[in-house]
Amino acid sequence: MDNYNFQQLLKETYDGLSARGFETSRADWLLEDITGMSRTEIALNFRENVPEHILNQYLSYRERMYKGEPVQYIAGFAEFYGRKFKVNRDVLIPRPETEELVYQTLEMLNSKNKILCDIGTGSGAIAISLKKERPDLSVFATDISACAISIAKENAEMLDAQVEFLLGETLKPLIDKKIKVDVLVSNPPYISYEEQKEMSGTVLDYEPHLALFAPDDGLAIYKDILSNLDKVITKGGLVIFEIGHLQGDILKAYILEHYNVENLKIIKDINQNNRMIQFNWMNQ
Ligand code: SAM
Ligand code: GLN
Repeated sequence: MDNYNFQQLLKETYDGLSARGFETSRADWLLEDITGMSRTEIALNFRENVPEHILNQYLSYRERMYKGEPVQYIAGFAEFYGRKFKVNRDVLIPRPETEELVYQTLEMLNSKNKILCDIGTGSGAIAISLKKERPDLSVFATDISACAISIAKENAEMLDAQVEFLLGETLKPLIDKKIKVDVLVSNPPYISYEEQKEMSGTVLDYEPHLALFAPDDGLAIYKDILSNLDKVITKGGLVIFEIGHLQGDILKAYILEHYNVENLKIIKDINQNNRMIQFNWMNQ
């Protein structure tokens, strides 16, 4: 096998990624993960030969990266809200926008809030982060996918977070167990089937479609949750949903037409896209 120094290996990989239309930062990300070195440490060792076992692993991971596989699935983890979460193809890679949902939820919580549930927890990213930041809360999390629940449980154990995970569709596990919450958060699947054609192969070919797509222009899971909220949330309880950037006004109008809520607000993400909707539930 050819000898490479770190700089040559990175340069060649940047070129390979660019030629395939991918961001070159993926090359650094993977090298940092495999070597355990920071970007600065790698730069300081640019002229050193890459040890053979590292090179072999990098080149085999690189093949997968060149085919479009997300680096988080290759490495087996994703960073979220300052922590590392195990991920595989059974769960969505948690997104930076969803870190904003966690931040917004923490901003909105008051000292009286006691019981929170995250619907469609995937890797457990939202529920576990909230429990770590607010250990006094009782946190539940649900998902329709048994494989996702199993990854989320591993993450909770690894990160030492006490979260109760429940398998089942939308609010059904809470209804069955007669659990009432005062905060409900969710990043459900919200992409419409029509949007598929505009999506990148890195998402479409690798991430679970169960986590991405929903019928009814992507609104089906919100509507399902709303139709059962009375059974699981206390009066005045806080609801925060992540939403698709085109769904804010439509969902707002739907909620105001069908339900009695207060303080409804659409919140933008860092890119100035509508990204969350929050309100207090006043029905019942
Ligand atoms: N909460 C994680 C995050 O923000 O990274 C994952 C969000 S992912 C967009 C949506 C999750 O909802 C997936 O894990 C999927 O399995 C789950 N899901 C899809 N349909 C569901 C349903 N009807 N009831 C409960 N969970 C559902
Ligand atoms: N924001 C994700 C994406 O664009 C989708 C997450 C979701 O459907 N909730 O791929």
